[in-house]
Amino acid sequence: MEHSAFVTGANRGIGFEICRQLGRLGYRVLVGARDPQSGEEAAAKLRAEGFDAEPEHLDVGDSASISGCLGRLRSRRESLGIWINNAGVYPQGSLLEISPETLGQTLQINTLGAAWCAMAVVPLMIEQGYGRIVNVSSGYGSFAEGLEGPAAYSVSKAALNAVTVKLAEAVPATIKVNAACPGWVRTRMGGPDADRSVEEGADTPVWLATLDDDGPSGGFFRNRKPIDW
Ligand code: NAP
Repeated sequence: MEHSAFVTGANRGIGFEICRQLGRLGYRVLVGARDPQSGEEAAAKLRAEGFDAEPEHLDVGDSASISGCLGRLRSRRESLGIWINNAGVYPQGSLLEISPETLGQTLQINTLGAAWCAMAVVPLMIEQGYGRIVNVSSGYGSFAEGLEGPAAYSVSKAALNAVTVKLAEAVPATIKVNAACPGWVRTRMGGPDADRSVEEGADTPVWLATLDDDGPSGGFFRNRKPIDW
């Protein structure tokens, strides 16, 4: 495959499975992780399954980490065609129950980190004339679905949806930007009672990451179908 794919928060959960599915499709996968050791372990596991996988240290809550990571990718001329903003946190509580710091950190990781990564990678994708950016969002960020879920998370994903729309407006037609809701998935975040496997949760993000040139941009999808913001 000509282009490589970067997945943030890929050391476990849906992100790890997205890497595996992209590996199966023949992509070289860059396994983003804020903890270097767990990133190395995840990449080693993928390599043991026969895929081309490299760990990349990236804390999406830290702008210096984002610019450092993009600098490394640029300097080794990584042909980055796919960027998947998957990393996320899920603090419990209403706006009256959480601290301002918790709200800030959640927005930092779930929204701003994703936006800053995308803003940093777009110039590279423009140079290459190809790009697919996928924001792993949630139905909890959908006004149409009632903005359910814990407050900081819901606000951060609604804002990530807005970032998806505004970024899709700004990029050239060679780049597609979409948001995905993976559904309720059995991970550390989703818990053991969730109705979906990681394989099912990763399916729509991987589909969006590998869209043909005539595929959609600026949309929100679940089960490969458009859903309302
Ligand atoms: P998860 O198992 O809790 O995994 C979250 C991942 O994000 C971990 O790899 C974690 O790294 C990483 N992460 C957290 N903060 C980070 C930071 N500052 N920098 C880099 N990585 C960071 O969650 P998941 O269920 O796979 O969720 C993946 C995405 O799907 C999230 O965006 C989530 O909001 C979304 N989603 C999940 C569900 C669900 O039911 N599971 C439903 C809707 C949407 P560490 O291991 O270092 O903590």
